[in-house]
Amino acid sequence: MTSVPPVAPTADDPAALVALLRELVEIESPTGTPGVAAASAWTRARLEALGGTTVLEDGGHLQVDFPGGGAPLVLLAHTDTVWAVGTLAGMPFRVADGRIHGPGAYDMKAGIVTILAALAEAPRPGDPARRALRVLITADEEQGSVSARPHIAAAAAGAAAALVLEPCLPGGGVKLHRKGIGRFQLTVHGRAAHAGTQPSPGISAIDELARQVVAVHGLADPARGISVNVGVIRGGTAENVIPARAEAQIDIRITQQTQAPELESALRALVPEVAGARHEWTGAWTRPPLECSPGAEQLFAAAARHAAALGLQLDRGGSGGGSDGNLIGALGVPVLDGLGPDGAGAHATHEHILAASLPQRARLLARLLLDPGVA
Ligand SMILES: [Zn+2]
Repeated sequence: MTSVPPVAPTADDPAALVALLRELVEIESPTGTPGVAAASAWTRARLEALGGTTVLEDGGHLQVDFPGGGAPLVLLAHTDTVWAVGTLAGMPFRVADGRIHGPGAYDMKAGIVTILAALAEAPRPGDPARRALRVLITADEEQGSVSARPHIAAAAAGAAAALVLEPCLPGGGVKLHRKGIGRFQLTVHGRAAHAGTQPSPGISAIDELARQVVAVHGLADPARGISVNVGVIRGGTAENVIPARAEAQIDIRITQQTQAPELESALRALVPEVAGARHEWTGAWTRPPLECSPGAEQLFAAAARHAAALGLQLDRGGSGGGSDGNLIGALGVPVLDGLGPDGAGAHATHEHILAASLPQRARLLARLLLDPGVA
C-alpha cells in the first residue's frame, strides 16, 4: 500500500459509496485465489484509516479491533465470492435503473462497504461514546468456512453480540435464524457381473441406490423445517454390466441442533433392500443451525426501532441457507444476520443490490453502533 486511503465516506455521500463498492467488486476474489487476500488488504487499509488495529491477517482472514467501552460487538463479513476470475469481463460493475450489478456486489461486498460507511459515522477512537468493536472478515465462507472456524471462535470470545452483514431477505428483512447444513454421501457396494448371465451372480448397486434415494427423501419433514435433497448420483460402468458401485451426494438441512443426531441415526438405520448390497456413509454437518435466541430478539427490537426512526420498516425472518452467523451463533453469541443492503441474485448472473438501500443500511448500522443499549 503506497498511500493511506482516505477515510471512507458516510451514507451522506451515496455516490462515493458506489465508487467504494466498485473498487472492491473489481478486485475479483473467488474463494482460494490471491484476489481474496487482495480484497482483505483493501479492507484492512480502510479499517485502519478509520482507527482500527489489525490483530489478525491470515490467508485473507482479517480481524481489526476498534477500542472502546464494553464487551466488543462483532461485525462479520466475508471477502470471498463464488465468481471465477474473469467474470467481470462479461458481468462488469455497472449501475443502471437504480441497481448496482457486479459479481459479489450483493453477496457480500456491499456489506463490507456498509461496515466502512457506518464506522465513518461512529465516534472516533478515544470518544467516550465509542464502544468496542471487532470487525471479522473471513476468506472462505462460500466454501463452508473451514479455515475461518478458529478465527470465528477467537472473535466470539467475550463478544457481546454479532451483527452479520450478509444479504437481507427480499425487501430488507433481517435474519434471526438459519438452517444448519449437512453434506453426506451414500456409497453402495454391490458386485459386478455380466448383465446377461442367468441366474446372475451380480448385485446391482444402482438398483439399491435407487431404492435408497426414495428412502432418504422420505426423511424430509417440511413441518419441522427438515429438508433432504439428493443432488448428485453416480454409478455403473456400462449398460451390459451389473454395477458394483453407485453413490449419492445428499444435502440435509435442519432448524434445531437436536435434529442432527436424529437424522444421522435415521440415515444409518436404512437397511439395504437388495440382497448382498452394502451401504457406506460419509460426510458431516458443515454448519450448525442458527437458532433464534432471546439475544437475537433484543437485537432485532433495537434494529427495528432504529429503522423506524429512519422511516423504514424492518421485517424479520430466517433463511434456509447458512452463513458465518451459524458458526458464531453456535458459540453462544447473539446474532442478527442479513443486515446487508437489499438486492437479489446471490450466486446468479442477475446479482445486484438496490442503490437506495446502500446508504439506508449504512445509516441503520451506524445507529446500531452508536446505541449503548445494543447488547
Ligand atoms: Zn455471503
